[in-house]
Amino acid sequence: MAGIYIHIPFCKQACHYCNFYFSLSLTQKAELVNAILKEIGLSKGYLDGEAIETIYFGGGTPSLLAADEIKSILESIYRTYPDISLKEVTLEANPDDLTADKVRELSSLRAYGLNRLSIGIQSFHDADLLYMNRAHSAQEASAAIKRVQDSGFEHLTIDLIYGTPTMPDEAWYENLQTTSELHIPHISSYALTVEPKTYLDKHIKTGKADPVDEAQTVRQFDMLMGYMASCGYEQYEISNYALPGKYAIHNTNYWRGKKYLGLGPSAHSYNGQSRRWNVANNQQYIKSIKESIIPYQIEHLTPAQQANEYIMTSLRTMWGMDISDFRLTDYDLKKSLSGIEPSFYILDDGVLKLTQKGRHFADRIAAELFIED
Ligand code: SF4
Repeated sequence: MAGIYIHIPFCKQACHYCNFYFSLSLTQKAELVNAILKEIGLSKGYLDGEAIETIYFGGGTPSLLAADEIKSILESIYRTYPDISLKEVTLEANPDDLTADKVRELSSLRAYGLNRLSIGIQSFHDADLLYMNRAHSAQEASAAIKRVQDSGFEHLTIDLIYGTPTMPDEAWYENLQTTSELHIPHISSYALTVEPKTYLDKHIKTGKADPVDEAQTVRQFDMLMGYMASCGYEQYEISNYALPGKYAIHNTNYWRGKKYLGLGPSAHSYNGQSRRWNVANNQQYIKSIKESIIPYQIEHLTPAQQANEYIMTSLRTMWGMDISDFRLTDYDLKKSLSGIEPSFYILDDGVLKLTQKGRHFADRIAAELFIED
């Protein structure tokens, strides 16, 4: 089983922490959708006949597309992959786009398989939204969720960001309370990180914005893990929490090393042996696709790189790293674990999992376990 990711590279406003690829000008939107439609045909052989299980519209801001544009992309995928075996079609949406009309339009796409919305809430407090330069208000955030729930979308996830200097622990606790009171079945929650060359990076360096406090981030991550567990959510991946059975299938497949095809500017693809990524430039992408050439760069993965990807992603999940996985042949786990603090992990029947303490250092622990190329 495989997935398709579609990158919609347009946003209304630049969030100050964001380093994804997007354009603030919508003038090329129609042309870009046409290019994606063409790329669907050009990339047909990439997944080697594997059945498609999930489709994910990410960005950027996919909710800037008209319902007809989303529909045409879905129809083209269905025509190209007649053996499709769909379980999940997700679309990312920003609260300020989710007007009553828009939610009605998106509801009409349920007939075309759309069954999950991912809403970029980030916070239910205006001070945080202002600090991040989000385009919506706290009031719009709650109203959008209610509208989506009333429209009957059963599968819903929201993004929340912690560690924002404007957010004391009490405000973070309120965000978590609001989330559980709204009965949202799935949450992705990330620490605010300051990526190089973002507005946030510049503003902190020039004193225009307060810096991020690492101790606050650590504390709020602990609050998140504790609160979500007390409300019955499973932390099935370090940044992802779901009520029982409500896991994101598309993302879980990434972490399990399944194949996926990425369409659109900057989209990444993976077929088990290599990764490739499309050019992160709308104009170059459109021009190249018009000439029937997918503009990508590719990296072929060595067996050690494939094993290390498995170590990195599996350790972040509640299913852990299974030493009997085919990518870890001859792996000496005991030797690799010798330098790691024992309270950071549990090793049970050949499966290594991180404890709550260990989850704070997941990337560092994974790096300790890596195989040398
Ligand atoms: S809406 Fe999403 S993709 Fe666009 S700037 Fe904000 S965080 Fe980045």
